[in-house]
Amino acid sequence: MQQTVTLLSMLQKEQKQHLLRLLKTHFGYDSFRPNQLEIISNVLHKKDVMAIMPTGGGKSLCYQLPALALKGTTVVISPLIALMKDQVDVLRANGVSVAYYNSSQPTEEQQQIVENLVKGKLKLFYVAPESLGLIEQHLKQITVDLFAVDEAHCISSWGHDFRPAYTQLGRLKNEYPNTPIIALTATADRATQDDILNQLSIPHAERHLASFNRPNLYLEVRPGQNRMQQIQGFLEDKTAESGIIYCLSRKSTEKIAEQLCKQGFKAKAYHAGIQAEERSSIQEDFINDRTPIIVATIAFGMGIDKSNVRWVIHYNMPKNLEGYYQEIGRAGRDGIDANTLLFYSYSDVLQLRKFIDNSANTEVQTAKLERMQQFSEALSCRRIALLNYFGEHTTKNCNNCDICKRPPAYFDATILAQKVCSAVARLKEQEAMGVVIDVLRGSQNAMIYEKGYQHIKTYGALKEISWQDLQQYIIQLLNQGVLQINFKEHSKLELTPLAKAILFDKQTVQLATLVTVKERATEKSTAAKKQSALFEKLKVLRQKIAAEENVPAYVVFTDASLKDMEAKKPTTVEAFEKVSGVGAAKLKKYAKVFMDEIVTHLKTKKTKKNNSKTPTHQISFGMYKEGITIAEIAKERGLTENTIYGHLQKIHENGETIDFEQFISSEEIQKIEKAKEALTEEDGLKAYFTYFEEKIPYWKIKMGLYLLDN
Ligand code: ADP
Ligand code: MG
Ligand code: ZN
Repeated sequence: MQQTVTLLSMLQKEQKQHLLRLLKTHFGYDSFRPNQLEIISNVLHKKDVMAIMPTGGGKSLCYQLPALALKGTTVVISPLIALMKDQVDVLRANGVSVAYYNSSQPTEEQQQIVENLVKGKLKLFYVAPESLGLIEQHLKQITVDLFAVDEAHCISSWGHDFRPAYTQLGRLKNEYPNTPIIALTATADRATQDDILNQLSIPHAERHLASFNRPNLYLEVRPGQNRMQQIQGFLEDKTAESGIIYCLSRKSTEKIAEQLCKQGFKAKAYHAGIQAEERSSIQEDFINDRTPIIVATIAFGMGIDKSNVRWVIHYNMPKNLEGYYQEIGRAGRDGIDANTLLFYSYSDVLQLRKFIDNSANTEVQTAKLERMQQFSEALSCRRIALLNYFGEHTTKNCNNCDICKRPPAYFDATILAQKVCSAVARLKEQEAMGVVIDVLRGSQNAMIYEKGYQHIKTYGALKEISWQDLQQYIIQLLNQGVLQINFKEHSKLELTPLAKAILFDKQTVQLATLVTVKERATEKSTAAKKQSALFEKLKVLRQKIAAEENVPAYVVFTDASLKDMEAKKPTTVEAFEKVSGVGAAKLKKYAKVFMDEIVTHLKTKKTKKNNSKTPTHQISFGMYKEGITIAEIAKERGLTENTIYGHLQKIHENGETIDFEQFISSEEIQKIEKAKEALTEEDGLKAYFTYFEEKIPYWKIKMGLYLLDN
């Protein structure tokens, strides 16, 4: 017994070593991400598996690595052509033999692919669900080791991207009872997960739920005022970085893209109203870093695995946290710092409310919207709120959200709250927030006068507070349960028992100051740090290679690989091999060019460093001795001629011989001598300059005086 156990664990250890070797050789990674190893070994033991991981969690590897470990072919069902193409590009760059098959390919190409498939030449074979029927006869001719159903939520009508063709995948288990199936999704919703497994006829599949935390995403929420201006500031140091701005309407995507272009950014709009062909070309340009900014409705991003999206902005508030998380999840897939920014505005909430009221399932959707709102208005760590929503209970502050970075300060807002509550009471709880604010600020608009609200006792009671600030305070009062909104009746503001306690029972109120909110907005986020010179150079080289090979830049190397290269600065093949993302194929193909770039960089740095040890006047003198003219030295060194003459003078003081006569004539020296007699000791160079009616330059005056004194 004892022996079998040790034998088993030995086998396991051996298998793990084997998988780690495959991981390094084919993908260049040194370790597995959470859950990957467990999932992979289950698959290799022919178990059906469901992998639930956030976007960017590393799902693909869970079937790509088994495919390489197994003898036959792994068939991957993937919903979108762009997605297949992307994965195939990445795998090929890693030297894996792989192909995809779909209806858009010319017949000849399809035949070629099928031939390779039947000959057993392909380790992985990607196919769209719609085309599965077309190649089934060929699949019968080969050994299919594994079926991978990527984006598996597409099979469920409960999910958010239902694809009818996915439902035929239920047949797979009946036809290939001995072939394991792995279903992969980022859907956190339990009911959808159950549905996926039932539809695939693998109800007993083992579920692997990875953490949904994406610690590299910086979470930030700002009030949605002057959004364009805020975006401009946000993008200031991100001009070459890829990012997505999500909006609610098609029209606003176009408007914002146009404005950004006017400000000198490269941006394009993307929405379902644009012709399919143009849409895919916009997407291609984004993937290949030709268009860094896409302004889109939520339809964008679903079919994209681009790993180097560095930021995501929500121009409008999403309708639930699932959508929000999926959309921000498109940033920073490579695990490197990425920025996310959500603009929160109360009018967005009202508009979303309207959508919901006109749709089915109102109650659930309303509850989800409320959670979204609470997240946006949070005054404590946003990641804690987010993870708790997805069922991961944590209490540890993340230190990578706006609130953690600058926690709010509170003030005693009892009087403010009393005034607000009193206004609501005097308006008989019949008005929405906007009117309450108008009354409190003493607005003189037509509506106020029509309704006679200027006679209310609290009219103008808070006129010193700006409209927007007052709105923020009232939102806080809503969150504290002092007030509530009656959405069923024109969103009227109503009092709660707590409000009555504030008005009549000396209940005190603390509110967060808005200063912190504003300070946060002007602060630069952590991810916005300036890139190093080497990183920039490596990026340029990567772009050049990508263009030559006609693949997206991140297929050559991800940003994560470049960062690692930047840190390790490898100059030998052994060192280069250790860089994350460098497997056998990339080592062979790219080690030399990238190392050349690194060596050159190190050399120029060394010369610069050497130079910086040499005093600046010595450098100028060195150049002077080489016969370079003063004007040229000044230009080369980015200094003024005045300064260079000063350097020479200093050199002379140190005892070097310099022939000054070539710069200044004896007549000029005499003139300066005369001036010296006319002027007093205290007079500075400026006095001389004026004396000569600005006709003799400063450096000459200085030189003349120097020569007279020595
Ligand atoms: P998902 O499909 O879950 O959204 P991907 O499979 O596209 O995520 O993986 C996201 C990124 O993470 C890719 O760039 C991938 O190469 C990288 N990745 C996956 N596994 C690892 C690992 N073990 N170590 C380092 N990077 C990894
Ligand atoms: Mg994926
Ligand atoms: Zn936090």
